[in-house]
Amino acid sequence: MSIAICGGAGYIGSHVVQKLIEENRDIVVIDNLEYGHKSAIATPNFYRGNIGDKDFLKTVFKKHNVDTVVHLCAYIEVGESVLHPDKYYINNVVNAINLLNVMKEMDIKNFIFSSTAAVYGEPDIIPLVETSNKNPSNAYGETKYAFENALKWYSNAYGINYVIFRYFNVAGAHPNGHIGEDHSPESHLVPIVLQVPLGQRENIKIFGDDYPTKDGTCVRDYIHVCDLANAHSLAIDYLKKGGENTILNLGNGAGFTVKEVIDVAREITGHSIPTEIVSRRAGDPSELVASSEKAKTVLGFTPQFAELKTIIETAWNWHKSHPNGFNDK
Ligand code: UDP
Repeated sequence: MSIAICGGAGYIGSHVVQKLIEENRDIVVIDNLEYGHKSAIATPNFYRGNIGDKDFLKTVFKKHNVDTVVHLCAYIEVGESVLHPDKYYINNVVNAINLLNVMKEMDIKNFIFSSTAAVYGEPDIIPLVETSNKNPSNAYGETKYAFENALKWYSNAYGINYVIFRYFNVAGAHPNGHIGEDHSPESHLVPIVLQVPLGQRENIKIFGDDYPTKDGTCVRDYIHVCDLANAHSLAIDYLKKGGENTILNLGNGAGFTVKEVIDVAREITGHSIPTEIVSRRAGDPSELVASSEKAKTVLGFTPQFAELKTIIETAWNWHKSHPNGFNDK
């Protein structure tokens, strides 16, 4: 039996793949390479294709005797999702439902879904627990929440067992230095900040400094990508042992403002990293901080790279040695 990692050539996916390779698991990777990188994965079991293509999925799942699916192929840009919700609903909902339908037809029972802190929207109380109000402030969060709900009903009717992870802000790179973040275009704070000391941009634009936070900039909870990958490995074992359906936040429980992230990056890179305050980005909640107590209890999840400094250091090591990312497009 093997584990299919859909979206395995992406940033988070490639770290999940690497973790499962280190554990000598049987895996097969699917990715359409629209945003993913073939060079990010070290397995010959790779198939290029789309999760919207039923025949393709069935052929791969049958050939590799898949019993567990990890679904990481989604569009992820908050700002873009507000401007182009059609793109987000088609991929993050319609295509993802197609994947579930294939699982239903092939009687594949274990499913791990990468959801997001964006399902919560503007929080009432910090830290967020899994039962906190869900009120997404952008189409990205809405599509993830719509699929979470669909999954609940598919599970109820067709016996698909799931772990839903709500990722907070994922950053950092594998300490082996071979894989890291490479989005084109890049929209995430940590890699964009590091483009300044790399000489790829003059300054970092801060999207709003009039939020009700300690320095006026948005607060986020940053989690290392390898800790996230480890959580997926734990979830695979959990489901294979018959664990109940569960929804788990993945964060570190510590919030940092945009300005604080930039300060840590200055300390690590030794660069002044000039900033410019610009208007707010559409769809940004002011503060998102997780309680990950449930993931600790249910999975025994313990972050190994919890310090923001370590997260940015590993990211910096990756970007310094790969200023143009994988350079494989
Ligand atoms: N951000 C920023 N400038 C940038 C990119 C991001 O000020 O060039 C802010 C963004 O408004 C948010 C935080 O950094 O408050 C984290 O944004 P990111 O896109 O990394 O993750 P998100 O929280 O949207 O998932």
